[in-house]
Amino acid sequence: MTDIADNFARVRRRIADAATEAGRRPEDVALVAVSKTVEAPGLEVALAEGQRIFGENRVQEAEGKWPALKARHPDLQLRLIGPLQTNKAKDAVRLFDVIETVDRSRLVDALARACEQVGRRPRVLIQVNIGREPQKAGADPDDADHLIDATRLAGFVVDGVMCIPPAEGDPAPHFDLLGEIARRNGLAQLSMGMSGDFETAIRHGSTHVRVGSAIFGARG
Ligand SMILES: *Cc1c(COP(=O)(O)O)cnc(C)c1O
Repeated sequence: MTDIADNFARVRRRIADAATEAGRRPEDVALVAVSKTVEAPGLEVALAEGQRIFGENRVQEAEGKWPALKARHPDLQLRLIGPLQTNKAKDAVRLFDVIETVDRSRLVDALARACEQVGRRPRVLIQVNIGREPQKAGADPDDADHLIDATRLAGFVVDGVMCIPPAEGDPAPHFDLLGEIARRNGLAQLSMGMSGDFETAIRHGSTHVRVGSAIFGARG
């Protein structure tokens, strides 16, 4: 558990250094602590370290972990970073403050209906399949502008775009392409960079790095 505290200090330092080296302000890069598979004791350490922004990739797992902690920490922000099935839209709308994985118009429709029913409207990011990988979720880069428009028309505040670049090769060109999509659509947030590449992502404009294993350790 002290590991987690140490890891937070190290990751925050690396974020600040990467930002400074890129001529950016460290406070302009938010750390999203990816807490999938992390259980209550680990979450408590993170909260004690002052961490308030968390990413989870499964609705059901998050429902089992976060409601009580959210009640205790009203300033907590929970972000969905995993694929969302339309039949889980209502549950996601109830729990998450930001949904980063909006990637198709059918999901936008389901989320709009869910928001009406639940009386709550999370902010959203559009996930882009930036490397056009067949096995990966996300809108095709060529369809992103259209999906952003449709999501706005459905009443959502689109904060930005999110991507997971291909595991192999240099992620930098993918980060740059995501940045272009954000710029031409007037979007401020770029959710990109994970444990293995967050410093590169920061050099290429990331505003939200999603870091799991570098903080909580390898997942089993
Ligand atoms: C698990 C996950 C992360 C964090 O990955 P690490 O390599 O453990 O930092 C980031 N983004 C998404 C979408 C994830 O599923």
